[in-house]
Amino acid sequence: MTILHHPGDDLVLGYAAGSLAESWSIAIAAHLTYCPICRLKVEAAENVGGSLLGGLDAEAMAPSALDLLLTQIKGVEQNEPEKPRASIKESSPSKQLSILPSALQSYIGNDVDALPWQRLKNDVFQYLIETNDYEAKARILRIKAGRPVPSHGHRGRELTLVLSGSFEDELSKFSTGDLQDVAEETVHKPVAASGDGCICLAVKDAPLQFKELIPRILQPVLNI
Ligand SMILES: [Zn+2]
Repeated sequence: MTILHHPGDDLVLGYAAGSLAESWSIAIAAHLTYCPICRLKVEAAENVGGSLLGGLDAEAMAPSALDLLLTQIKGVEQNEPEKPRASIKESSPSKQLSILPSALQSYIGNDVDALPWQRLKNDVFQYLIETNDYEAKARILRIKAGRPVPSHGHRGRELTLVLSGSFEDELSKFSTGDLQDVAEETVHKPVAASGDGCICLAVKDAPLQFKELIPRILQPVLNI
């Protein structure tokens, strides 16, 4: 599995520092299950943070630590491993049949078919993940093959992690493990690829701005 799309470094470093709100941290933890490059960034950031906490001089240490981090990341990108190395964030063997990373299984179980899906629009379904997070909302989206999520802009940031299948929008194509990190000004219309459709985790920090009438009417009802 080759991961082509990653979260912004601010989120990866925020995750390493333990400073992300719960919904963002779910998305990053789930992405780390698939992505050796971002796992390396987290490990390097944790090492740097640990060294600084250990009393080393921050200014003296920062350049060499950054060089080491960049060298490590370059090495991983040039020699993409066949599969992620072992990590506590990878799924346990008993749960490997599920498409869901362990970070998500602790919230919603391991069977996506058993979720009480809520119809969002025609061939798009959602399941809102219960968290204690008032800053952002996390949900699972299930989109039938060849069907679009309604075109929308954002009042904030939106992360979309593909859990199964793939989708495309005006920007690129996203497959399992890829995480799309979309900024406030982006307007896009994701479409699930043909085949088995697409299941993804979406996290956003503000209501979507739908361009079409029916989703706009339903928005307050569906809490999207
Ligand atoms: Zn990554």
